[in-house]
Amino acid sequence: MLPEKQAVKDLAALGGWGRYPLADTRAVRPERARGLTPVGEHCLARGLGRAYGDAALLSGGTLVLTERLNRFLAFDPESGVVRAEAGVTLKDLLEALVPRGWFVPVTPGTKNCTLGGCLAADVHGKNHHREGTFSNHVPEFEIVLADGSRQTARRGDDLFWATAGGMGLTGLASELTLQMTPVETAFMRVRHTRSKDLDRTIELLTDPGHDARYTVAWIDCLAGGRNLGRGIFMAGEHALRSEVSLRVANPLSVPFRRQKPFPMDLPGWALNPTTIKAFNLVYDWAKGRRTEFVCDYDQFFYPLDGIQGWNRMYGKRGFLQYQYVLPTATAREGTRLVLERLSQAKKASFLAVLKRFGPQGEGWLSFPTEGLTLALDIPFSDGLLTFLDELDDIVLSHGGRLYMAKDARMKPAVLRSGYPRLGDFCEFKKSIDPEGRFDSDMARRLGLCH
Ligand SMILES: Cc1cc2nc3c(=O)[nH]c(=O)nc-3n(C[C@H](O)[C@H](O)[C@H](O)COP(=O)(O)OP(=O)(O)OC[C@H]3O[C@@H](n4cnc5c(N)ncnc54)[C@H](O)[C@@H]3O)c2cc1C
Repeated sequence: MLPEKQAVKDLAALGGWGRYPLADTRAVRPERARGLTPVGEHCLARGLGRAYGDAALLSGGTLVLTERLNRFLAFDPESGVVRAEAGVTLKDLLEALVPRGWFVPVTPGTKNCTLGGCLAADVHGKNHHREGTFSNHVPEFEIVLADGSRQTARRGDDLFWATAGGMGLTGLASELTLQMTPVETAFMRVRHTRSKDLDRTIELLTDPGHDARYTVAWIDCLAGGRNLGRGIFMAGEHALRSEVSLRVANPLSVPFRRQKPFPMDLPGWALNPTTIKAFNLVYDWAKGRRTEFVCDYDQFFYPLDGIQGWNRMYGKRGFLQYQYVLPTATAREGTRLVLERLSQAKKASFLAVLKRFGPQGEGWLSFPTEGLTLALDIPFSDGLLTFLDELDDIVLSHGGRLYMAKDARMKPAVLRSGYPRLGDFCEFKKSIDPEGRFDSDMARRLGLCH
């Protein structure tokens, strides 16, 4: 089939979700997956732009926007296997399939991301310790390669494991098959437990007695001294029909909530240690108040999605996400050092989230490895880049690595030391994309296959 004629549009100062860095680029927006094809000398797929840094940016190149590739292709209500175009979002899937008793198997903290973006970052959720990454639940996908050919990649193929976590550098994913998870209701049974310090927080995350399908801990990263690492441990399970109030007429639907837009870019000084401390107090009070309750999946998984454009809260300079994983053996010590540095430097993170990862998957550049992962959102300020270089030293000296989907600033050596299969990835990329047609600002910054 001939590729459809596509209008090329100039996009100035486009960013990722962190709004740092910005890039001038061009974009095409194909209407049909069958017309998906590489465009120009350098190109890259872009979903909803929820990667925080420069993973979905390509200065001077062409972005292939997948938002119109949003069709469902097949669904088997018996097995819960769905096939859909790569621009279908997790929100689309949840709206269509939760009422039929099927939930997405792995979800990041936003449902506003595409299947293609979830595969390319091989995203993880609060259930990684039980169910692994997104690609664990993908039997196969179709991808358009640099020469315009289409290939089906199945688990076990090099193309599959290079693409899962490969940040769009192997090609344009066009269609995916996904095994959904059966649920009886759209509700979650949730338990909150306060923890007084880091040891207790880690104990809650790792003790089998507190285990649940979904676990995560929010950390008050401004607390220091003997309270360092204190927070709230949150555990969730999909609620059974018998656990949801009889007053809920349809337990497989969630109430419609109008998204509230964040009204403006806040000035740079608005988020500072004092305001974040105040936020932490309120958050701690609100979350610690209820210890066991039932809520709908939006409230449990996607509290931030309720505020449209919440990234404007960080003002025009944007913010940086910083997410590392450390192996189980060094995670406690490394995380203590990171939290101490944050607390001493008064570099408050608005949201600091600690999760447990289970065994490493097979994606060559997939981020999760067994251990603990900490994610921080830090407002952009002078000196922040140097400060994060210091955190990199702690992470590397404790055998950890950083997450590319959250990154906007790590140095090539940091990537190299964290990802031992980088060589295999680049060798394979060369075999399917000898001219380096698929490229990104992140790949250029990190010297990834350059
Ligand atoms: C509030 C929030 C919470 C988050 N929480 C988590 C979390 O808990 N766990 C987690 O793992 N991530 C998390 N993320 C990161 C997010 O899930 C990933 O960055 C995801 O890739 C975003 O999907 P997207 O469709 O917006 O992709 P984009 O941001 O547009 O692109 C991300 C990467 O995917 C590639 N890509 C996109 N579509 C395709 C395609 N069709 N074919 C090939 N490559 C493609 C792009 O080239 C780029 O490299 C979070 C992000 C936000 C904003």
